[in-house]
Amino acid sequence: MATETPVDARTRGRGDIPEAFTWNLSDIYPSWSEWEAGLGEFERMLSGYAELRGTLAQGAERLLKAFRLGDDLGQLSYRIWYYAGLTYDQDQRDNAANARRQKVQILFAKAAEARSWFTPELLRIPLTTVREWMAADADLAVYRFAIESTYHQQEHVLDEKGEHLLSLSSRLGDVPHDIHSMLANADIKHPVITLLDGKQVTLTYGQYNALLQTNRHQADRAAAFHAFHETFAANANTYAAVYNGVLQRDWFIAQSRQFKTTLEAALHANDIPPAVVENLVATAKAGTEPLRRYHRLRKRVLGVETYHAYDQLVPLIDCERKYEYSRVTDEIVESMKPLGVAYQNSVRQAFEGRWIDVYESPGKRSGAYSAPVYGVQPYRLLNYNDTLDSVFTLAHEMGHSMHTMLSEAHQPFVYSDYTIFVAEVPSTLSEMLFFDHMLSRTTDQRERIVLLQHAIDDIVGTFYRQCLFADYELQAHRLAEVGEPITAEALSTIYFDLFKAYHGDAMTYDDSARITWARVPHFFGSPYYVYQYATCYASSAQLIQTITSGSVDERREGVERFLELLRAGGSDYPMNLLKRAGVDLSTPAPAEAVVKQLDRRVTQLEQEIDLCP
Ligand SMILES: [Zn+2]
Repeated sequence: MATETPVDARTRGRGDIPEAFTWNLSDIYPSWSEWEAGLGEFERMLSGYAELRGTLAQGAERLLKAFRLGDDLGQLSYRIWYYAGLTYDQDQRDNAANARRQKVQILFAKAAEARSWFTPELLRIPLTTVREWMAADADLAVYRFAIESTYHQQEHVLDEKGEHLLSLSSRLGDVPHDIHSMLANADIKHPVITLLDGKQVTLTYGQYNALLQTNRHQADRAAAFHAFHETFAANANTYAAVYNGVLQRDWFIAQSRQFKTTLEAALHANDIPPAVVENLVATAKAGTEPLRRYHRLRKRVLGVETYHAYDQLVPLIDCERKYEYSRVTDEIVESMKPLGVAYQNSVRQAFEGRWIDVYESPGKRSGAYSAPVYGVQPYRLLNYNDTLDSVFTLAHEMGHSMHTMLSEAHQPFVYSDYTIFVAEVPSTLSEMLFFDHMLSRTTDQRERIVLLQHAIDDIVGTFYRQCLFADYELQAHRLAEVGEPITAEALSTIYFDLFKAYHGDAMTYDDSARITWARVPHFFGSPYYVYQYATCYASSAQLIQTITSGSVDERREGVERFLELLRAGGSDYPMNLLKRAGVDLSTPAPAEAVVKQLDRRVTQLEQEIDLCP
C-alpha cells in the first residue's frame, strides 16, 4: 500500500493526488479511440435484432440467438457506458466527457427501440412451447428464469390497444415528480436564519443537515428546524396536490392492470407478497421501545430540558479521531474474517490495482458508489475524508463490489446483475462486521461511544425511519384506493401520528414536523421503494447472527448460505434467494432481529456512557 503525503483536501487538484489513490479506467479501454470503436461495434450488433424480428416462433435456435445477442450487447454496454460515465464523474466540469456520456445514452435509446418488439413477440409464443424448447436445449435452458419471469409479468399485461394507451399516459405519470423536484429544488427559497453567535446561515439542504449534525446549541437547531419546515408548510397545499398526483397515478396503473391495491402492483415484478411490507411495518412499530430508550438516553447526555426532532442527529460526544485510508483498508480486510480467507483475499484484491477513486477533487461527483463494470472489475467512487462515516461508507461499497465479483464469477451474464431488494444485504452486512471488529479492537472509551452511536443511528436511519416512511406511503395510497379526500391536513396527520407512535413519550413534538412528508423526495419520485432498505437491513441483521454466533458448524453453514446468496446474483426472485440464505421475509423474524440488535446496542451505549468520565 502506498502512503500519502498530506495535502489540504480542499485545495488540491486531481493532479496532486498520488496515482495509487485514483482509479485506472484504462482497464476498460486504453483510450477514447478504442471506446469509439466500441460504440461502432455496439451499433453494428444492433442490426442483429432486425434479422431476428418475426422469426422467434420458428424454434429454440432463433430464441437462443436473440438472448445471446442481448448478452453481447449487454456486456459491451457496461464498458461503453462506464468508460464515459466514470470519466465524467471524476470531474463533472468536463464537457467533452459529458457529451460522450450523452452519446451513449442516445445509443441506448436506439437499442431499446431496436429490441422493443422482442418481449411482445416472445409472449405470443405459448409458454408451454417455450418450456418444451428449454427441456430439449440446455443452452436455451440457461435463460429459464428470465423467460419465466417475463411470462409472469404478462399476467397483468393488457392487449395491444391497452398497452398503447398506458404507454401514452406514462408521460403524464412523470409530471408529479418533476413538479416536486422544481418546487423543492429549483424554485425553493431557502430561509436565512441568524445563529446565537450572530452568524447568518442560508438553510440549503446541505447546510441544514450539517447544522443539525454539528451545532451544539439547541436554540440554533430549533431555529433551523422551524425555518426549514416552514418553507415547506408555506406551500403545503401545493405539495399535497402534487402528491395526490402520485397517488392517483399509482392507483390508475394498479386498476388498469387489475391489481387489487397499489402495493400489490408495486411488488408484482419481484414477486413479493404484500404481507412482507405489512409485516415489516407492523414489527417495526411494535418494536419501538429500544428506539425510545435511545432517545431518552440522548436527552440525558445532551442535558436538554426537552428533547425534540432536531436533537436526534447531534453527536453525543466530540471525537477528533482521524481514520487514514491507508490504515483502514487493512482493518476492513481484517473485519471480514468471519466470512473466510478466500473472501478476505478477494476484498484485499479489490483494494489493489487502482479500482478505487479515493479522495475528493474539484468537480468530482459527491457521495459514493460501486460501479459493476462487467468483465473488467467493480470500480468504487469515494469522497474519503478520514471521518468515521467515510470508513463505513468504504466498508459498505466493498460489500457491493464483492457481490458483483461473486455473482459475475458464478452466474451467466443474464443473471450477473442483482435487484435492489438484495443489493443492500452484503453492503449493510459488511458495515455490521466492520463495526463488530472496530468495537472489539478499540480500548478508547470515547471511540467506543462514537462507534456505538454510529451503529445505532444507522439502525434508526436505515430501518426505523424507512419503516415509518413505508407505513406512511401505505396509508396515503389507501386514501386514494378508497376514494378519501387527499389534503395537506390528511397527509400531515398520517405522518405526524406515525412519528408520535414511533417515539412515544421520548420526545417533545413540534407542529413544524407535521409537514415532513413534503420534503421526502422518494415519496414523489419512487413510491414503495424505501421499504427495501429496511428489508435488506433486517435480512442482514438476521444473517449476521448466524454468521457470528452459534457452534462452529452453524457458523460455517451460515457463511456458506450468505456467500451462496452473493453468488446467486439475479438468478431467481429475491424472496427465494433470501429464503435459501435462511431469511424468510414473510415472517417477522428478520425485523425482530433488528429490534434485538438495537436493544443490545442501546444497552452497550448506556453502559459506556455511565463509565465515561
Ligand atoms: Zn448501498
